[in-house]
Amino acid sequence: QAAGGHTILGHPDSLFVLFFTEMWERFSYYGMRGLLVLFLISETAKGGWGWSRADATSLYGWYTMLVYFTPILGGYVADKFLGTRRAVVLGGFIIAAGHISLFMETIPSFYLGLALVIAGTGLFKPNISAIVGQLYGKDNEGSRDGGYTLFYMGVNAGAFFGILLCGYIGEKISWNYGFGLAGIFMILGALQFYFSQSLFGDIGAPPVKGEKSAAAQADAEENLPANVVADRLKAIFVLAFFTIFFWFAFEQAGGSMTIFAADYTDRNLVGTSGLIFKIVNTLMTVIPAAILTWLLVQLHRGTGKRSPLPIVLLALAFAAIWGLIIWMLAREFSLDQSEVPATWFGVLNSFFLVILAPMFSKMWEKHWNPSGPIKFGVGLVLLGLGFAVLSYGASGIPPGAKTAQVSMMFLSLAYLLHTMGELCLSPVGLSYISKLAPARLLGLMFGVWFLNSAIANFIAGKTGAYIDYISATYSMSTFFLIFTLIPAGAGLVLMLLTPWMKKKMHGVH
Ligand code: GLN
Repeated sequence: QAAGGHTILGHPDSLFVLFFTEMWERFSYYGMRGLLVLFLISETAKGGWGWSRADATSLYGWYTMLVYFTPILGGYVADKFLGTRRAVVLGGFIIAAGHISLFMETIPSFYLGLALVIAGTGLFKPNISAIVGQLYGKDNEGSRDGGYTLFYMGVNAGAFFGILLCGYIGEKISWNYGFGLAGIFMILGALQFYFSQSLFGDIGAPPVKGEKSAAAQADAEENLPANVVADRLKAIFVLAFFTIFFWFAFEQAGGSMTIFAADYTDRNLVGTSGLIFKIVNTLMTVIPAAILTWLLVQLHRGTGKRSPLPIVLLALAFAAIWGLIIWMLAREFSLDQSEVPATWFGVLNSFFLVILAPMFSKMWEKHWNPSGPIKFGVGLVLLGLGFAVLSYGASGIPPGAKTAQVSMMFLSLAYLLHTMGELCLSPVGLSYISKLAPARLLGLMFGVWFLNSAIANFIAGKTGAYIDYISATYSMSTFFLIFTLIPAGAGLVLMLLTPWMKKKMHGVH
């Protein structure tokens, strides 16, 4: 399929259809989830529900756990009945219905909305991740890690614009417009995928009744001994297990670093630094949008003639994004703002990711490509190092202090290290699942992979409140030190397991 077809950056152009579809889905997921707690705890006079922080974070913990639990069901259903492609289309529309339901802002429609997003993500997320791997075969195997890394750039481009735009509109205009915006882009994304399906040929087609499915046939042709299949499944479980440590610390970071940014970081901008911040902010917004627009143009050159409708939908969505960015920036420039918003740091992760992903993609393809457990180990250690920077930055804060004035640089550097760690582990993990799992279990194994995030989010939700306790009894620095040691320790153990893992993977690099 890929061979001979049009390529962009050396990858089949169908990869970029998946890239953009996933981008809009993640736009809606991260945009909505960024608003969720803020909306629930905001006073009723300000349109919120006036919940306590504890109740709101508990609902958030349940929600993010369930969103990553359902992929195991969605992956199974696709393997057995739907095929991955139909599951993505169906999941996309269910998610969109969920956001529209949240937009309506009544109590029953709110819970219905959450349930729909949870169910839809179960169908969408594991299966779109599975299709990416199916674009690579014997003739372009070497590009698989790089392809997943680019796909992951789409994930974070969506997160970036979702957090930025849904957040801005939700907080400054109205909560339900923030939710509604998430819904609109999800609809455009699902339609764009639906109309692009001819690009995929047999890939992800549903199993035919009474016939051996394409996946089962592929497995039969490959004819691996049962013990190899079993060993590789074991390797998947081990990788997924170590990833729990990563997402646990990472999701904790999301909450604790926002608190750190809000209470302990010097975000005052006096005089010209206010102007400089606005300029930096503008560049940070415009650069990712420009990169993506370039990709859109490339995609148009390859597929535009064959299938104009998806490109038109995509161009429409982009026009809307540019319009919103320009409107947001113009509005910000006219305001006399003298403080960096605490939520701004949250988008640094996806910003760094979009910028660094192409470099990592090239690095895996051309320069340095160690085996999976080593990459995972390095990723975990980098995450730990990010927390070490915070622990050092926070070392001057006395126990129990309510405020402090730590430099913003520590937070920014921590996000940079976290993002580099994420690039060594998360997209690489997707690539490994696609190489290790037999074709007939592909969706299900992606479900197993995402289960790590369900468990991590569950634990992070339960332990979220400890930041206050530990920083009052010991210190803020101790809190971050704990999160230095957990991932770094797990990373070192995994690196030690490399020889064992290599045996279990039976030649999969
Ligand atoms: N940022 C990734 C995504 O949303 C994280 C996935 C995960 O496994 N937690 O795709």
